[in-house]
Amino acid sequence: MSRPLIGVYPGTFDPVTNGHMDIIGRAARLCDRLIVAVATNVGKGPLFSAEERAAMVREEISTLPSGVGASIEVRAFDTLLMHFVREMKADIILRGLRAVSDFEYEFQMAAMNTRLDSTVETVFLMASEKQQFIASRFVKEIALLGGDVSSFVSKNVKARLESRIAGGRPIAG
Ligand code: ADP
Repeated sequence: MSRPLIGVYPGTFDPVTNGHMDIIGRAARLCDRLIVAVATNVGKGPLFSAEERAAMVREEISTLPSGVGASIEVRAFDTLLMHFVREMKADIILRGLRAVSDFEYEFQMAAMNTRLDSTVETVFLMASEKQQFIASRFVKEIALLGGDVSSFVSKNVKARLESRIAGGRPIAG
């Protein structure tokens, strides 16, 4: 029997959206084991702490129907992605691509990661047409300005956004 294929899907997930979940569903059909890796060290001033972001991803994954494919786990990481990938003994990195906006950044990151470890491939997935355009950044902006984000995130994430915004901005880590 061949060795199980291990994939790492890294991101900020601030917060997890329907776009991320679409990619997770697709990635789960490709790998035997999928590790959703929540970046702790993010220079973007996240709205939610790494623990909160990981907890939200875990909650979303628990709502997926059984038999999606891979066994899925969520881990926070604060090291260089390629070091984390090696530590997990992963074979592939999964990333999502939205239209042309992500291309330049993803292209450079994949090329530099390949330079760091040429045995690990980056695989790009596209979300369904309906979820393609969703970005956490805009979801946060809409929520902060009192808009309705229910078609971009789950009920649970929406409630977490509302209570975070009502309670003021936290010190995120
Ligand atoms: P990053 O910190 O790299 O921006 P994100 O949490 O925003 O991480 O996203 C993680 C990955 O998921 C990235 O590869 C991003 O392009 C992808 N992604 C996020 N939203 C979508 C979406 N709506 N459709 C496809 N891919 C997406």
